[in-house]
Amino acid sequence: MKIVHEEFRVNTQSRNQMIDITSQVRSFVSQSGISDGDVIVYCPHTTAGITINENADPSVIHDILLTMEELMPHRRPGYRHSEGNSDAHCKSSLFGCSEQVLIKDKSLSLGTWQAVFFCEFDGPRSRRVVLQIRGE
Ligand code: ZN
Repeated sequence: MKIVHEEFRVNTQSRNQMIDITSQVRSFVSQSGISDGDVIVYCPHTTAGITINENADPSVIHDILLTMEELMPHRRPGYRHSEGNSDAHCKSSLFGCSEQVLIKDKSLSLGTWQAVFFCEFDGPRSRRVVLQIRGE
């Protein structure tokens, strides 16, 4: 089995934002030469996350962020963390720091409407995305 590590940066523009990074992931998988295996998309941050969801209708992303803001508002009585970004830490833990996508016949096994998103919850910032591509 071959293992390839890659890394790229994402510059976010707003406090809460979901950025489609599927094309970057696809490009690194293609360059790796691995035709069957998987790729782990990992984000080494405590106020951001990775998720897979729909990229066909941008309203879906809007509605996810709207729902997150309602569930976990930026300001809330009771928060103790002095940085003032407790909502971002909560969202990061809810979404998780990674996703795994299977690779079959040199392609990502994503559904027709699925895309991989970097999720910013405390931007704007310059963020890292780490990939581990494994297989043969
Ligand atoms: Zn914090």
